[in-house]
Amino acid sequence: MYYNKIILCYNKQFVRGKNMQGIDHIGIAVKSIDEALPFYTNILQFKHVGTEIVESQKVKVAFINAINCKIELLEPTDEKSPIHKFLQKRGEGIHHIALTSKDIEGNITYLKEENIQLIDESPRKGAGGALVSFLHPKSCRGVLYELCQHKEDE
Ligand SMILES: [Zn+2]
Repeated sequence: MYYNKIILCYNKQFVRGKNMQGIDHIGIAVKSIDEALPFYTNILQFKHVGTEIVESQKVKVAFINAINCKIELLEPTDEKSPIHKFLQKRGEGIHHIALTSKDIEGNITYLKEENIQLIDESPRKGAGGALVSFLHPKSCRGVLYELCQHKEDE
């Protein structure tokens, strides 16, 4: 009986376009990556794996390997950046949670059918060349979720 249940759960994970594949990373808004990094690398002793600018979102992004999950530090590069607005309104802290997607187009179609409001109705290029799409916090109990499909999974 127990065994059957496991098989059922296991199979469920492979319904394309529906199930998310876990948490990819946690996005954290910071005023300055240079000032925030030592906490992650020296105190928590995680590895900083790279930094890049995402021009379309006016953010500088630092990736941290937190072993079973990644952390994305987000610093605004411009006053028009959504992260700048977030910092002004809420201060530094958790900005979003990114879910791993293996079929972002399918996930978007499925979520729309479930009446989940999306900020990005079609995937766009995010940090690290991943395809991303944000879900509206109004539809997700106050949490800003991001769907994230990495390049190698396209
Ligand atoms: Zn993200």
